[in-house]
This record gives sequence, structure tokens and C-alpha cells, in this order.
Amino acid sequence: MMARRGVLGLLIAVLAGTVLGGGHPAASASGIWVCTDNDCQPYRYDPAVGDPHPLVHPDRPIAPGTPFARLPETWRCPLCGAPKPQFEPFMGSVRQRG
Ligand SMILES: [Zn+2]
Repeated sequence: MMARRGVLGLLIAVLAGTVLGGGHPAASASGIWVCTDNDCQPYRYDPAVGDPHPLVHPDRPIAPGTPFARLPETWRCPLCGAPKPQFEPFMGSVRQRG
């Protein structure tokens, strides 16, 4: 008499939440992502510019118009070498208040 239905319902709810609203808090409107590594300047990835000199594959430049999400998993911050998970959406201007 275990309530398997309850577990399944919970699983469906979690999946639905992931698809509908989970994940990242809405990416920045500009599509710019910023490196959060402490040793970085920080570098900002601008999809309008792309990355003409990738750190990992210099022979494969990132074309302008490439959204951050479409960057290869091997892509790294060209300044400090941080991987993609170290980046977060860049909201408007530089944060003054913290
Ligand atoms: Zn960096």
C-alpha cells in the first residue's frame, strides 16, 4: 500500500518546474555574460562580438552573434581560463551596490 503515485506526482512536478521556469534566472536582455572569477578583470562575453581568439581552440574563432549558451563546453574565459559555469548573466551596468 505504498503511495507510489505520490512519488511519481512529485517527480512530474519537479520535471515540469525544470522545463517551465527552473534553471537560470532569466538571462540578461543584452545577452552579455560576465566572468565571476576573483582573479579576472572581469571579462565580459558579448554575443554581438563573439570571441575572435578563443583560449582553447584559437583556430576556431567564435563568430559574432553566437549566444553564450551556444558556446562549446570547452570554451574558457580568455583572460583567466575560467570555465562556462563561472559565468553569470550580466545585468545592466557595473554593480555599484552590493
Ligand atoms: Zn575570467
